Amino acid sequence: MFRPGQRVAIAVFFLFLVSLASSRGAGNDDPPVIALKAARLFDGKSKALITDGVIIVQGDKIVDAGSNLPVPAGAQVIDLGDATLSPGFMDAHTHLTLDYSGNYNQRRLDELDLNVSEQAIKAVTFARATVEAGFTTVRDLGSRFVASREFVDIALRNSINKGVIVGPRMLVATKGIGATGGHFDPTSGFRDFLFGREPDYTDGIANGPDDVRKAVRFEVKNGADIIKAAVSGGVLSLAQVGREAVEAGVDSIEHGSFLKPETLTLMKKKGTFLTPTLMATEWIMSKIANYPPALQEKARAAAAARSEMFRNAVKMGVKISFGTDAAVFPHGQNAKEFALMTRLGMAPIDALKSATSNDAELLGIGQKIGTLERGKLADIIAMHGDPTADIAATEHISLVMKEGKIIRNGPPAMQAAAKSTEATDVAAPVD
Ligand SMILES: [Zn+2]
Repeated sequence: MFRPGQRVAIAVFFLFLVSLASSRGAGNDDPPVIALKAARLFDGKSKALITDGVIIVQGDKIVDAGSNLPVPAGAQVIDLGDATLSPGFMDAHTHLTLDYSGNYNQRRLDELDLNVSEQAIKAVTFARATVEAGFTTVRDLGSRFVASREFVDIALRNSINKGVIVGPRMLVATKGIGATGGHFDPTSGFRDFLFGREPDYTDGIANGPDDVRKAVRFEVKNGADIIKAAVSGGVLSLAQVGREAVEAGVDSIEHGSFLKPETLTLMKKKGTFLTPTLMATEWIMSKIANYPPALQEKARAAAAARSEMFRNAVKMGVKISFGTDAAVFPHGQNAKEFALMTRLGMAPIDALKSATSNDAELLGIGQKIGTLERGKLADIIAMHGDPTADIAATEHISLVMKEGKIIRNGPPAMQAAAKSTEATDVAAPVD
């Protein structure tokens, strides 16, 4: 027996179920299906491209990917012609909130002059240029403004995630952690107390284990996805300290210009990634006269050492992640790293893997992205031509899709606007 009130409630509940079922049956809620077609497809993990690539996308996911797949009835077909479909590229070393590509001394002045909000607005264009260049995910390794506690990288990441602005998926490090007077001390080189106080753990400046714990907790509390640390302040001690960091279990070593074969052997054994950032050295060397003499000396030494180090790492089979240090060069030119990698002995298909499945593994998001497989998020790009025949194809992106949404199909909207300096091509590799 039901009391009358109860009976009404049950009836309403059933009506609701019926209406839900009928709308499902009619297919009204199903997101539209998109079929992407191109002459070739790189799936993110195989040793070769496949021909007649087709990817079926529904909502934010890949339904299927392969050669000559049948296109479901009613699907929107985008035929990209003589192009190669690929998982969205990833860059495991960017600084989307910064721009170090111009004149060194001018940048140091600008840092004092521009307020953080203005720099954050510039970062919006850098994020857009990056995703339009085919980089749908970045690991952003350090965002810091002298004498400011703003977390611009967190704001950028969250605004992208909420759909307020367009940019790549970001995993952010907030402020890289380093010692007083070291590589990350934002007041280094300025007179004492110019900025009113000595930087502390809230600026990522920490000395000793307790201080470092405090800095890590502070960054995680404020939204950091990853922790970056400068374990060396000096070029001469880099190899030794790098080895200690590998032994301590870091996920990746950045730059690594001076890594010796012994350290590379240890990295191979422990599965530590090398993020070579060849573009950074390349850009600095192409504008070497703009830098102060002390920095010039360091850059020359790094450039001289890094080619042999990279060749060794490739030969030894060290895991290599794709990372560029974008900000040192103008944002949106990240793909130029591919050509530098292949010129130093890496097979084109392996360079492509480094920017897709390798980076996804390093970033701990390989379950969701990095390959073109059923159930993965639809982060998909298309580039003109065949990147295994000419790696420069990676610099000519014709389509960018992130989580099923088309960000770009045709010429980029923002890339030119984001370039901070004249569009100089990097010089031939210093080798
Ligand atoms: Zn960097």
